[in-house]
Amino acid sequence: MDYAENILGTIGNTPMVKMNKLTREIDALVLAKYETFNPGNSVKDRMAVKMIEEAEAEGRLKPGGTIIEGTSGNTGMGLALVAITKGYKMVCVLSDKQSKEKMDILRAVGSEVVVCPTDVAPEDPRSYYSTSKRLAEETPNSWYVNQYDNLSNTKAHYESTGPEIWKQTDGKITHFVVGVGTGGTISGVGKYLKEQNPNIKVWGIDTYGSVFKKYHETGIFDKNEIYPYVTEGIGEDILPKNVNFDIIDGFTKVTDKDAAVYTRRLAREEGMFLGNSAGAAIKGLLQLKEHFTKDDVVVVLFHDHGSRYVGKIYNDEWMRKMGYLE
Ligand code: PMP
Repeated sequence: MDYAENILGTIGNTPMVKMNKLTREIDALVLAKYETFNPGNSVKDRMAVKMIEEAEAEGRLKPGGTIIEGTSGNTGMGLALVAITKGYKMVCVLSDKQSKEKMDILRAVGSEVVVCPTDVAPEDPRSYYSTSKRLAEETPNSWYVNQYDNLSNTKAHYESTGPEIWKQTDGKITHFVVGVGTGGTISGVGKYLKEQNPNIKVWGIDTYGSVFKKYHETGIFDKNEIYPYVTEGIGEDILPKNVNFDIIDGFTKVTDKDAAVYTRRLAREEGMFLGNSAGAAIKGLLQLKEHFTKDDVVVVLFHDHGSRYVGKIYNDEWMRKMGYLE
């Protein structure tokens, strides 16, 4: 018999898929690490398990405890699956720009959902950073995950995502391109890959309205870079501990409109029904095309599934209202 002990046993070992149409203008082989095959439909299942297991091992999360996290949805989904399997309560704190689908999905897997305003500074008591911290202080036997600064996040990708990509490309990968939010994915995968072959280039995809690109290039945390944006899952107005700027070769920024349009193109031209950050990642990869030559093997990682965006990116009315549909 061949079965997993529980749903957590199905996390990881996701497929690698060749891009055939959208990247025609690039000579290199472009492969997508397709993370929607995880049980929570996103790459975040990997770090959710790791963060919880390490918190248990260190005694920070105790039996019957409540897990509290500020999450754009995918981490919450991953954490909720682990919480159910291991018998914890789960509270997710979201900002109000997150899609309704994400909130409904979190409730469907038993999580309590707390919604906070997006357009306030991180230090504002109403922000989702401050609210999650406050709830953790007020709730007995609770543990605040803090995916931004919790280094088990990066470790999960160093131990699983990175080695899978190396193996699936027979060590031939030359470039890794990925959206950056907490930084766990790029830092964990990037560190592992560069340890195998220091010549591998690691590129981060950032958004307009986020601080990463400017900080990487100048070392300056420029508050003028911060303004509200639409793209979900990537870009930040803080510098999370999980972003290891030393292993990142460069960032490129993708507009909200391009990210939305290319998310739809992935679905229609490649049959890849994916989330908003996948569109940003593939458009960013196309922006970097002068860096790739014929024999290169470029891996792009797609974080999450299209089902979470049917009310937005995959809704013509919303796209028209945003001015993204000509
Ligand atoms: N895309 C989506 C849809 C996400 O939810 C996240 C996580 N915020 C990312 C990209 C960025 O991944 P990471 O946090 O590992 O940098």
